[in-house]
Amino acid sequence: MNDTKTALVTGANKGIGFAIAEGLGAIGFTVAVGARDEIRRKEAVERLRAAGVDAFGVALDVTSDDSVAAAAATIEQTAGRLDVLVNNAGISGRTDGGAQDPTTLDLDVVRTVLDTNVFGVVRVTNAMLPLLRRATSPRIVNMSSNMGSLTLQTGPIMAAYAPSKSLLNSVTTQYARRLADTNIIVNAACPGYVATDFTGFNAPRTPEQGAAIAIRLATLPDDGPRGGFFDDDGVVPW
Ligand code: NDP
Repeated sequence: MNDTKTALVTGANKGIGFAIAEGLGAIGFTVAVGARDEIRRKEAVERLRAAGVDAFGVALDVTSDDSVAAAAATIEQTAGRLDVLVNNAGISGRTDGGAQDPTTLDLDVVRTVLDTNVFGVVRVTNAMLPLLRRATSPRIVNMSSNMGSLTLQTGPIMAAYAPSKSLLNSVTTQYARRLADTNIIVNAACPGYVATDFTGFNAPRTPEQGAAIAIRLATLPDDGPRGGFFDDDGVVPW
């Protein structure tokens, strides 16, 4: 088996996803840059290659079954297997006009957010599982948020986004249980409050800082934790 490990990062063209791609590339992974927009994808691949990363672009819209199936085929042809999947792509959803105030909640916004943040993760994970099963130490990292923590109840009231991350956490534990007797380790990560487009670049942490926990969970040893929710400080309460 080829020794070079391959990692797919979804939403890798900018923000935390780009930093995860760069960080995994720096420690020797070949990085599949999952991104839906062709121009942004190519620019990201070029920037990563300029930084010395072995990167290739993968057209990937996590809301499309066809796109996800084609992405799996591209990775199979290019790498033959997948060692790491980072489900990073995510959206906050519209908030104007009380769209995420629970008392005036726009259910179309909820559907849109769930389609990317939760169904997208399931779509991508299930399409990639056959490739992950070919790896010796496969890892799946789901990029969650402490806004999804029912214990912490932190951040602004966002009744589509926050529950999408609570559901993602729950789905993460279901995968971990289902895959408990395999070598596939699945966890959820919280990057902290990070300056990206997502936050209007108005947050204290850098994308590199936000990426660190995902990189750590993507490179866990074989006896590492399963089905947990972690940030830089350790376990995040559910
Ligand atoms: P950005 O908005 O900077 O990046 C989001 C990425 O997801 C972009 O590459 C975007 O692509 C991609 N994306 C969105 N929808 C899709 C889709 N349908 N298919 C493929 N890619 C898609 O956000 P961040 O980097 O800040 O966030 C990354 C993750 O971290 C998200 O899951 C977010 O919920 C989570 N997070 C972020 C926090 C923060 O403080 N920033 C805090 C807690 C969690 P495109 O450029 O085409 O839109």
